[in-house]
Amino acid sequence: SSAPLRVLVTGAAGQIGYAVVLQIAKGDVFGNDQPIVLVLLDIPPLAAALEGVKLELQDCALPTLHGVEAVTDEAAGFKDIDYAFLIGAMPRKEGMERKDLLAANVRIFKSQGQALANHSKPTVKVLVVGNPANTNALVAAKYAAGKIPEQNFSAMTRLDHNRAAAQIALKVGVPVGNVKNVTIWGNHSSTQFPDASHAKVVKDGNEIDAISAINDNSWVQGDFISTVQKRGGVIIEKRKLSSAMSAAKAACDHMRDWHFGTPSGQHVSMAIVSDGSYGVPKGLVYSFPVTVDGSSKQWKIVQGLKIDDFAQSKLNATTKELEEERDDALAACEE
Ligand code: NDP
Repeated sequence: SSAPLRVLVTGAAGQIGYAVVLQIAKGDVFGNDQPIVLVLLDIPPLAAALEGVKLELQDCALPTLHGVEAVTDEAAGFKDIDYAFLIGAMPRKEGMERKDLLAANVRIFKSQGQALANHSKPTVKVLVVGNPANTNALVAAKYAAGKIPEQNFSAMTRLDHNRAAAQIALKVGVPVGNVKNVTIWGNHSSTQFPDASHAKVVKDGNEIDAISAINDNSWVQGDFISTVQKRGGVIIEKRKLSSAMSAAKAACDHMRDWHFGTPSGQHVSMAIVSDGSYGVPKGLVYSFPVTVDGSSKQWKIVQGLKIDDFAQSKLNATTKELEEERDDALAACEE
């Protein structure tokens, strides 16, 4: 046991927030023997709801939870933080243009980037869940520059990654734990490229390429991709609410792997600041296959995966969308 980690959740009065805080508090992310202090942040109109979440967390009587703070003030919320789950973002309202949505989120993530720089630990690890997640992470990293390395910023594509693994498992008829090394490339949006071509499946006790286990190339290049891309919309249609349980679980998977490292021989998908790998322009927050070393907590992009013409066209499309988002966001930063 060690000193408590200070873990921030923004948008903690929202539905993903409600699902994520219990998992973090009970040790799913940082382990059963790591004390944590949870800091819950939301906007002032939700102060009472936030207080309710805090009281429930106390009532969970969790040995790993050494404290809960519910705050609506950024300076207090970001103070001495080790890990930040940035879930709160401006939701798209009826008739809102993409540019207006981006501008509203630029304001939020500029302010949070500055708060990270001014108040959090310089080693803080940041996961952005609030949409448009990739570009929000880019903005936060920009305003924390000089204090917090850009490598400490990431956006969540782990839900897409988990969805892709689940689809392959269903197709092949194996438990999802038998599927590894799927990849999500690019933006957490409908232009993302879920890629099965480097994945492995354990079937009848043998590890084989997912592509041969699936044995259906038109599915791999068709329904597999569109099912993962459109999954969020299908959940909303059926539940009349967006996915919260699976999004929260994915956020926890992302942070657990960043904290403890990825298992040997396995990669996960994280949107991180591009270093130019695979021809992706430097500085874009782009989802790549990454491994993480648990002792240094540094990620590395998996190099040398074969990108065929089909994959390259998919990578290019999501790059183009992220460049447009970046340009719009940077223009909004100037306003
Ligand atoms: P949710 O908890 O359902 O969603 C939060 C964010 O996560 C949204 O931006 C949502 O994007 C995004 N998201 C990313 N991936 C997924 C996914 N796979 N499935 C679903 N959502 C995903 O929203 P609520 O409205 O319930 O809660 C948001 C909370 O954030 C509110 O309490 C609000 O007050 C708060 N907030 C806090 C801010 C702050 O702390 N400064 C700023 C703004 C809001 P999408 O909208 O595209 O579904």
